[in-house]
Amino acid sequence: MRARDPYRPAHGSDAFHVEHYDLDLTYRVAANRLSGTATLRLRTLEQLSEISLDLNGFTVESVAVAGARLGRYRHRARKLVVKLAEDAAAGAELQVSVRYSGNPRPVPSPWGPLGWEELEDGALVASQPTGASSWFPCNDHPADKATYRTCLTVDSPYFVLAHGELTGRRVRAATTTWVYEERHPTSAYLATVQVGPYEELSLGASPVPQRAVLPPSLKKLARRRLAHHGKIMRTFTRLFGPYPFAGYALVVTADDLEIPVEAQGVSIFGANHLTDDDGERLVPHELAHQWFGNSVSVSSWQHIWLNEGFACYAEWLWSEAAGEASAADLARTWHARLTTLAQDLVLADPGPENIFDDRVYKRGALTLHALRSALGDETFFDLVRDWTARHRYGAVDTDDFRDLVEEHAARAGGEPLAARSAALLTRWLDSAELPAL
Ligand SMILES: [Zn+2]
Repeated sequence: MRARDPYRPAHGSDAFHVEHYDLDLTYRVAANRLSGTATLRLRTLEQLSEISLDLNGFTVESVAVAGARLGRYRHRARKLVVKLAEDAAAGAELQVSVRYSGNPRPVPSPWGPLGWEELEDGALVASQPTGASSWFPCNDHPADKATYRTCLTVDSPYFVLAHGELTGRRVRAATTTWVYEERHPTSAYLATVQVGPYEELSLGASPVPQRAVLPPSLKKLARRRLAHHGKIMRTFTRLFGPYPFAGYALVVTADDLEIPVEAQGVSIFGANHLTDDDGERLVPHELAHQWFGNSVSVSSWQHIWLNEGFACYAEWLWSEAAGEASAADLARTWHARLTTLAQDLVLADPGPENIFDDRVYKRGALTLHALRSALGDETFFDLVRDWTARHRYGAVDTDDFRDLVEEHAARAGGEPLAARSAALLTRWLDSAELPAL
C-alpha cells in the first residue's frame, strides 16, 4: 500500500494514509462554483515534516491542523503542501481541514480531462484514474482507501447522488443539503457526486437495491433497456460472490458521454448508452467493477488488467448466462481479432500510456478464459469467489493473483496442474506475443 504508484508518480503520497474524508461542500450549479471544507483524518506512515495533498485548481482560503502545529502551506502545481511546525512521528494521527472555493475543473491526463465535469444541467464526477483532485484535496492513490461523509448543498430542484448511503436530507427555502455516508473503504478516484434534474427508477431489489438515477424523460427507455438488471446482479452474485456494497445506482445523464465509468456503488452512463448497441454490454461491465476494481482494488495502475480483464470477461459471462453468444465463442472471436493487431503489449506491465488500451481489456478477458479452460468451471469459479472474498475492500497486484491461482490449481490437480497454470499465466501476462487459445 505504501509504494507510490510508479505509473502515476505525480499523484498520491506514500507517506500517510487517509482514514476518513469529511466533505462539507456547497455547489452553485449555474455558476459551476464549489466551496466548503474538506477534513481529512490521516495517519502518518513515517516521520513527516509536511503533508502533500492533491488539489487541482481552487483558491485555498485556510488550512487548519489538529494533532500537530501548522507551519505554512502552499498550493501550486496541483499540490497543496501543508508544512508542520515540528515533525510528526510515524503513526501519528492528524486532522487536516482545508477551506477552499472555486470553479472545479477536470484534471488533464493522457486520456483526456478527468473528474468533475459540468453538464448541460448539473455536474458529474468520474475520476478514473487520477481525477479526484478536481473536487477535493486527497491522497489520489488507488490503494489508499478511506471512509467518507459527503455533505453537498445545492439549489433545491436538483437531485444529488453521492457514494454510500443517504443519511440526511434537509430542505430549506432555496437549497437542499444531501448527506451520504460511505462506510466501505473507497479509493479517492471512486468517490463521486452526481448533480442533475434526476429521479429514481428501481431496477431490482435482490440481493441489494439497484436503481437508475436519471432525468424523467429517459425513464421509459431505461425501464425497457435495463429490464434484466436484476438478473445480471443475481448471475454475478452467484459467479463472483456476495455483492460488496449496500446498493447500486446506475446514473444516466441527459448529456451523451464517450464511455461509461464506474464509481463506488455507482456507475455513470450517458443518454446515448441507452440507445446504442455498445450500451448493452457495458451495463454488466460497469456492474462487475463493483467486485473487480472497487472492492478489490489495484495497488498500482500497472495491474489494471485485474479490473478490466474481469469486467470484460463479465460481459462474456453475462452473454452466456443470457443465452446469447457463449464465453467460448466470444473468446474465439476476440482472439482472432487480436491476432490482427500489434503484439507489443505485456499485460502485467502495459506501460502508463496503455492502461486503457483495448488489448488490456480483451487479452485480460482471454487470460481468464484460458485459465477457466485449464482449471475447469468448478475450480475457476471457486478461485474467483475466493479472490473477491480474500481481498474484499483491499488492494492487490498481479502476483497476488498468481499466488491464488497456484493455490487453487494445486488443490484441484496437484503439482502438475499448478505448474501448468503458472506457465499459462506467464504466457498470457508476461510476454507480448499472443498465445494460442
Ligand atoms: Zn471498465
